[in-house]
Amino acid sequence: MYIDSINTNIMSKNEQATNVLIDKSLGILQIPEVSHRLGDYNDQLTRALNRVTHSNVNTDGFLELRAEADTIPVVIRSIGEYAVLHARDSAMNPHQIGSLSTQIGFEKATVADRKFRSYLSSTAAHKALPVFEDRKDMAVKGSNWWLPEPRTIVKGRPYVSMNGDAAIGASLSPVVFLHELMHVLQTEANPVGSTDELARNKVRGELEAYHIAAQIILGMEEADRHHELLEHTPRDELDRALDIELVRINSQDSSDHFEPNDKVVSALVRKQHAITSEISDIIRKVA
Ligand SMILES: [Zn+2]
Repeated sequence: MYIDSINTNIMSKNEQATNVLIDKSLGILQIPEVSHRLGDYNDQLTRALNRVTHSNVNTDGFLELRAEADTIPVVIRSIGEYAVLHARDSAMNPHQIGSLSTQIGFEKATVADRKFRSYLSSTAAHKALPVFEDRKDMAVKGSNWWLPEPRTIVKGRPYVSMNGDAAIGASLSPVVFLHELMHVLQTEANPVGSTDELARNKVRGELEAYHIAAQIILGMEEADRHHELLEHTPRDELDRALDIELVRINSQDSSDHFEPNDKVVSALVRKQHAITSEISDIIRKVA
């Protein structure tokens, strides 16, 4: 009885933290200077925030997900805490199926969805969430996936997990959270990809997500509210986002702002910005 009530308290504390995180993120997007800088992204992120729902980890270690598949699950975990996405909760969400329908047609997208589901249920391919190793690991976006044929990857329903131990006081970082939410939108826009392009596309995704973080920081500065960011986000995380954005702007010569070309990648390596595991490997080899 006593233990039960403690568990209930812990869960509601996390749920509260998620609600505060959603409110703070919405508040930031409503600041005119931020919204102006983010342009179309502002509406996309606001709509995504309205789909975010808190998820707990049940006693078996699985994420407890709401039945409504179009929600974006957020789970707060501590350093070292395991959690697993159940195969039955791993299929594409309606936004992913919608994107795929636009790309390859409704019928083919429906077949892909059905085959992915049958792969998931026949293999019970549950997916472990990456474990947070320290406070610098602030958050992760992930999903289950399937390789239906060599070099093709299908990504399932995306989730976000925040590191509760990286909170400042009780506050999780909306800047980091909105960066991760941008990754959710990327996964929803392109659920199917080629494994050959995976490493490059990860760079593209990070450049876009850091662009979001940097524009939020710059907008908050313009609104003279940047001191508020330090209430929930470490200064070095803010500096990092601004610096990655600067590296991108200074080295990008393509009209495609987030093109993951060699010039941008070598600039990131030079500045030691390990924004993906592949770039991190290159930095280690160069050093
Ligand atoms: Zn990222």
